Amino acid sequence: MAEALRQSQKMEAVGQLTGGIAHDFNNMLAVVIGSLDLLGRRLGDQDLRAKRYVDAASEGAQRAATLTQRLLAFSRQQPLNPEVLDPNKLVPGMSELLRHSIGADVRLETVLAAGLWRTHADRNQLENVILNLAVNARDAMPEGGRLTIETQNAHFDERYASSNFGVRAGHYVMIAVTDTGGGMSPEVMTKAFDPFFTTKAVGKGTGLGLSQVYGFVKQSGGHVKIYSEAGEGTTVKIYLPRFVGEETAEAVPSFPELLRGE
Ligand code: ADP
Repeated sequence: MAEALRQSQKMEAVGQLTGGIAHDFNNMLAVVIGSLDLLGRRLGDQDLRAKRYVDAASEGAQRAATLTQRLLAFSRQQPLNPEVLDPNKLVPGMSELLRHSIGADVRLETVLAAGLWRTHADRNQLENVILNLAVNARDAMPEGGRLTIETQNAHFDERYASSNFGVRAGHYVMIAVTDTGGGMSPEVMTKAFDPFFTTKAVGKGTGLGLSQVYGFVKQSGGHVKIYSEAGEGTTVKIYLPRFVGEETAEAVPSFPELLRGE
């Protein structure tokens, strides 16, 4: 419990710091991207060499914008557009994209629970999160393997919530992504959600995939948990609040509430 509290406080502090920077960067990049666009149009086809420089600068600025978006997601400052979602429809709807992203050597399996509840979440962000998890799974299985996406209803009772820091009692929809890859060491597990933490080669990983997952799930009022052992594969379970009413989800705690352990 004390370790979970420490970890949460660390994530909160890092989130506030990166969120502030990402927010300012986002605004500055909007000016850069907009100006480059105008410059590119003005140049037209008159000066192809200059146009190439403008295109290269534009591409760089777009990459930086994607990165700041992921940081905003981590710091829970991403504007969300929640809608009522059935994960049993959303996951199969992604299968083509997922198959393309994991390649031919990884087999995709889906295990969808009968009678699954619905949730209230941002569709694009949730799809992004599932894709991030699938890409990590693929990277953990360079020789191929199996990627399983499972859905399930979940209920955390008060006893479970009070002995698991950051977990709020209630009903959730779980989406679990499991791979048969190399797994994580305990050291990697404690840092996996940190922004910019990566064990991948330069240019291969940004260290922002799981940070984005963490931020999105927390901002949506849910929980995320990693189960992994070196050599044994990895499961990442995300829990999103069950949708119960017309416009609200059952459990959407704010972070200060979580910190107080309410
Ligand atoms: P990135 O994928 O860019 O490295 P992430 O934040 O998504 O950034 O992941 C951080 C680190 O966590 C990875 O570099 C890797 O060491 C570890 N990791 C994430 N997912 C898995 C997985 N499915 N299996 C093994 N290790 C993983």
